[in-house]
Amino acid sequence: MMVITFRTVDIRYIGAMIGQIPRQDIGGDLLGPDDPPAVTIVNRDGGAPAVLLCDHASNRIPAALDQLGLDEAARSRHIAWDIGAAEVTRHLASQLDAPALFSGYSRLVVDCNRSLDDPTAMRQISDGTIVPGNRGLDANARTARAEACYWPYHMAVTETIERIATRGIVPAIISIHTCTPVIKGFERPWHIGVLSNADRRMADLLIAELLHDSALCIGDNEPYSGLDPHGYSIETHALPAGRPNVLLEIRQDLVDTQHGAQHWAVLVGAALHSVMAEPEITQVIGADVRAAS
Ligand SMILES: [Zn+2]
Repeated sequence: MMVITFRTVDIRYIGAMIGQIPRQDIGGDLLGPDDPPAVTIVNRDGGAPAVLLCDHASNRIPAALDQLGLDEAARSRHIAWDIGAAEVTRHLASQLDAPALFSGYSRLVVDCNRSLDDPTAMRQISDGTIVPGNRGLDANARTARAEACYWPYHMAVTETIERIATRGIVPAIISIHTCTPVIKGFERPWHIGVLSNADRRMADLLIAELLHDSALCIGDNEPYSGLDPHGYSIETHALPAGRPNVLLEIRQDLVDTQHGAQHWAVLVGAALHSVMAEPEITQVIGADVRAAS
């Protein structure tokens, strides 16, 4: 399986190439030589008509940000990343032969599934934990994070989708997340949440496939709703173009071991494979439905 990573120098090239960011405005000072890349692409040339996204794959923090003032226990919790999501996504990339993109940094540095002007993009408090390093961020600090850790990921997603589209293929956008088993004392009963917006093509087919297993509890727009306006990746890379899409929220306690991640990826991968064989998942959807979303 081919693995490609983008470091700052590559991002400058991509940013200039697609003209989204003027070359001279691209920073990159935030990341040091020992920091991981902002985005990793696995199976870049996979043949499936799909792109897998893992917005919350990592809990890493650039060294210059001094762990945001958080101890290791805090950084290992869901507030920093989606536990198990990267492992599930890696398995799915292999099973489906689809390219997969992984964000390289913690959502506490900058949340790749938020618009940058969303107040939760760089949270000062998350699930009751204060994030000292996010207190009083000025515009320069916010811009540095966006340029180092946010735009490189989204530009790589755009580039991957456009490369598939040049082959005359409409890629389905599949976003993989995990959620906590309990929130504010409520035990979430769902093994997997299937989130959708007005375009329910993939969600309806996937829910039907997964429910062939009567032991599964599947959430339909639970524990969150795909109609919630706070997301960014599906809203940016799928909806405007009418691409088939779905966002999965898998309960993290099911996939926090290698064995668990593989087990659930096999199950989800088989269902996604069937869904993507349906003719309606090879086309963009009409503007009337897009407008409703
Ligand atoms: Zn997530």
